[in-house]
Amino acid sequence: MKITILGCGGSFGSPLAWQRHGNIDINNKRNFRTRSSVLIEINNKNILIDTSPDLRKQLYDARCTNIDAVLYTHVHSDHTSGLPDMRAMSLINNKIIPAYMPIDMIPEMEQCYKYIFKGEKDYLPFMEIKELEKSFNFHDINIKSFKHNHGSIDVQTYKINKFAYSTDLKKFYNSDIDNLKNLDLWVVGLLRENEHPSHAGFSQIMEYIEYLKPKKTVFTHMTALLDEVKLKNMCPKNVFPGYDGLQINL
Ligand SMILES: [Zn+2]
Ligand SMILES: [Zn+2]
Repeated sequence: MKITILGCGGSFGSPLAWQRHGNIDINNKRNFRTRSSVLIEINNKNILIDTSPDLRKQLYDARCTNIDAVLYTHVHSDHTSGLPDMRAMSLINNKIIPAYMPIDMIPEMEQCYKYIFKGEKDYLPFMEIKELEKSFNFHDINIKSFKHNHGSIDVQTYKINKFAYSTDLKKFYNSDIDNLKNLDLWVVGLLRENEHPSHAGFSQIMEYIEYLKPKKTVFTHMTALLDEVKLKNMCPKNVFPGYDGLQINL
């Protein structure tokens, strides 16, 4: 299995805008972050988690010309609004691509992207909504998912073998965190050092890491308040900030 961090920025990306660099060193390319998404290559299938507004460029940079399925974490625009860019993947491979999402996301996605899922006038649909189940097989790949809290809404954590992805994380419910024991790689959202009403801060995320002890942890969904080098220096060796284009083989 190969994991590619296509984007690891928060909803604004990083930096925020021209000369709005926050705390980052702009001479370090790794601080330039597009909106969060990840590509999973496993058993000759390409699975994409979320369609960020930067998707076209992200797939181009990853030299990716085929997506077999999309898994959605939640309906926020920084995780969904690149969906129209999936049209090229459908066209190139002449197929309708499944989009797995929790049931509560379906009405809004169907309404916002009607032409994509239902077709409109001269345009044929190019994706198909699939209601997410807690555990299901896509071809021979087992995908597990559960909800975590993100302030006023919930977000899906995804787990495939010993890899898991939890972005936009405020807290886990009950003992759900125990589903993430024995991971080889955990990609987890860290918006900024201080906590936010919808995102846990650094100390809370570090507590989760200390409890779970994944072999490796990579931060994603970072604002320009987090500098790559400074953050790396605050962490143990097997915990580090991601950067756009980072690839990890598992
Ligand atoms: Zn987000
Ligand atoms: Zn969000």
